[in-house]
Order: sequence, then C-alpha cells, then structure tokens
Amino acid sequence: MSLAELRELERANVVPSYARLPVEFVRGEGARLWDSDGVEYLDFLCGISVTSLGHCHPRVVAAVREQVGRLMHTSNLFYTEPAMRLAEGLAQSSLGGKVYFCNSGAEANEAAIKLARKAKPRGDIVVVHNAFHGRTYGALSATPQESKQAPFAPLVPGFRAVAPEPAALAAAIDEHTAAVLLEPIQGEAGVNILSEELLACAREACNQHGAALVFDEVQCGMGRTGTLWAYEQTGVEPDAFTSAKALGGGLPIGALITGPRLADVLQPGDHGSTFAAGPVVAAAALAALEETHDELLLANVREMGARLADGLAQLPHVLAVRGRGLMLACEVDLSAPDVVRRALLAEHLIVNATGPTTVRLLPPLTISPDDVDDALARLARALAG
Ligand SMILES: *Cc1c(COP(=O)(O)O)cnc(C)c1O
Repeated sequence: MSLAELRELERANVVPSYARLPVEFVRGEGARLWDSDGVEYLDFLCGISVTSLGHCHPRVVAAVREQVGRLMHTSNLFYTEPAMRLAEGLAQSSLGGKVYFCNSGAEANEAAIKLARKAKPRGDIVVVHNAFHGRTYGALSATPQESKQAPFAPLVPGFRAVAPEPAALAAAIDEHTAAVLLEPIQGEAGVNILSEELLACAREACNQHGAALVFDEVQCGMGRTGTLWAYEQTGVEPDAFTSAKALGGGLPIGALITGPRLADVLQPGDHGSTFAAGPVVAAAALAALEETHDELLLANVREMGARLADGLAQLPHVLAVRGRGLMLACEVDLSAPDVVRRALLAEHLIVNATGPTTVRLLPPLTISPDDVDDALARLARALAG
C-alpha cells in the first residue's frame, strides 16, 4: 500500500487527532528505522523516549517471543511470574516500597493522584506551570496548559498550578495538600530541569504538611538521564514516582512505584486494570529493566549525552542547549518544526519540536559515538536549510 493510500485511509477513517509526518516506517533495528521505500533513518526520538534500548532490542524480542506463545493474558485475578518479578525489580531498584501496574503514563499518574487522595482525603494536588502529566481527565487536570485543558472543561477539581519557583511552591503547600506532582525534568515543555532548590523546597514542605511528593518519571526515568531513575541525581527522594514510556522496551505499560510509607494505601477494590502487567508486556519490561539497570549502559548515556550536548552547542543557529544525559533540547533561531521536517525528509534524521523554537533529542541509550557525530552532521545540514 502506498503512502498516498495510507493517507487516504486516515482521512476517511481516523479521528484527526494527530498531525503525522509523511513517512511510513516498516522496520527498525537499534538506532535505525527503514521506510516503505527502503530508505534508512537515524532515530534520535525513540518513539518519544519509548524504544530507549533501540528498536527491536534482541533481549526484549526474545522475552516477548518466549512469553507470547506460552500465555498472553489471565487478568489480575491470578498470579503470573513476570508481573511479580517486574514489581520486585522496580521496587528494589528504587524506593523499597511497592508497585501498582497500569498501561500508560497518564494511567500511572491517575493512580498516583488516587493514591494521594486516599492517603489524604479531599486533599489538593499541586503542580507547576508547563507540566505535562497526560491526557486523561485526572492527568489533564494536572497539566496546566490552556490549549490542552480549555476545550474539555470542566476538569477535575482540587488541582492547583503554581510557578516552578521555591517561594510560590512553598506558599501553595499547606495542610490541605495531598500531593505535589512534579517532573524532575519537564519533557513536553521542552526539557526544563527543575532546580534542586525547588525540589528540596517541595520535599521539605511535603514533610511539614504530610503531603506526598510524587515525581513523574514517565519520560525522564528508565535510564534516560544517565541514572536508572532521574531522582537519583536530584538530591531528593520522592514518596512515589511514575514510570511508563521506555518501561516496556517498546510495549505499553505504566507503573506507580511507592516508597514504604504509601505502599499499602490502595487496598483490594480501590483501583485496577484488566490488562495491567499482563505476562507478555511484563516479560518485555523485565528484560528492558535488567538491560537498562547496567552501569556500562548508564555510563554510555552520560558520556554520549555530554558528546551530543557539546556538539549541539557548536552548531550554527543553536542558541542554547539544555537537559541531562540523553534527554536534550536546543533552542534555535529558526522555526523548529521546519528544522524537524527538513531533518526527517532531507537528512533522514528523526528529532522533534516541543515548541516553535525548541528541538528535542531523545536518542537510544545504546547510541554510539559515530552515530552521535552522524546525527550532529545531519542536524547541521538541516539547520543550514
Ligand atoms: C508522555 C508523558 C505522560 C503521558 O504518558 P502516556 O503514556 O502518553 O499516557 C505523562 N507524563 C510525562 C512526563 C510524559 O512525558
């Protein structure tokens, strides 16, 4: 089927909620994708930080193949080994509490909001400007962006959004606060690192008022910033955090991971999901977690992150570079969507724009120095137009 035919099928049948770029991918391996004409692309986006181990990582593929022909689904009415082992791996690699599984990042944040409200009945959820926590009603209510929220009012009550500044945050947290929900590094807003001062202030105010500090690590977790979890580099330990995106090695899964204090708040009947941590996705995630929780891989993230950031800072039209590890963005003095389109169509490099002048790069954590240099050369040509 040609791309023109696919676009016609989309026009006739698909709710137009996505503005797709005109490329059909048919195969992926490592940092590379191939389109339906056989053209090879370098993928510095990873399906928005999902295929962080590269496309079709052999260990993830083997785990899925082994599980998919044995048992695909039983529901959470019964036990399966992959889900229990994955929970153990997540809990023991982080806060030493317990794990609630779901199917996406938004769902993980929904679970966090429900847990926080149950722990502190009728309490408020405090978030910061430009946050992105997902598109479902609870998660959207925690996403204070006019364009995303306004068409869908009324939203869920009890959410407060403040500037990401210590004084503003401290003033917003009081005895009515159930949770403070923060991305340690804001992804969709264009890779904004929240300051250590802000996170420490949130930690202190949450302690003082018995509120839960919850980090949204849906994008910045799972090795993306050079440690398994992003909070490890912030000097602050949250009471719980959420994960999704790269967690399933390319398959859909989300998790709320708690510390000991919140581990038993949700009791039988409080929350649930038919599909959550089914054997196939849990086997994939267990393989992805074991592969990612590896000091050599995490060192590669830090080294390649520094190499990429240095290279970006030297490109013409790049005004500033920010981020941590392999979660990077650059500000350009051009239209970022135009640059992204030229990079894709002329240079066969996949990156994306998070704003009118912001280009975001989320390459595979396994990326090699040669591929970093190759991407920089391609991006330089796309910037030169
Ligand atoms: C992508 C993202 C979400 C939403 O995840 P979905 O799987 O699309 O529901 C939530 N929080 C952050 C920080 C994200 O980057």
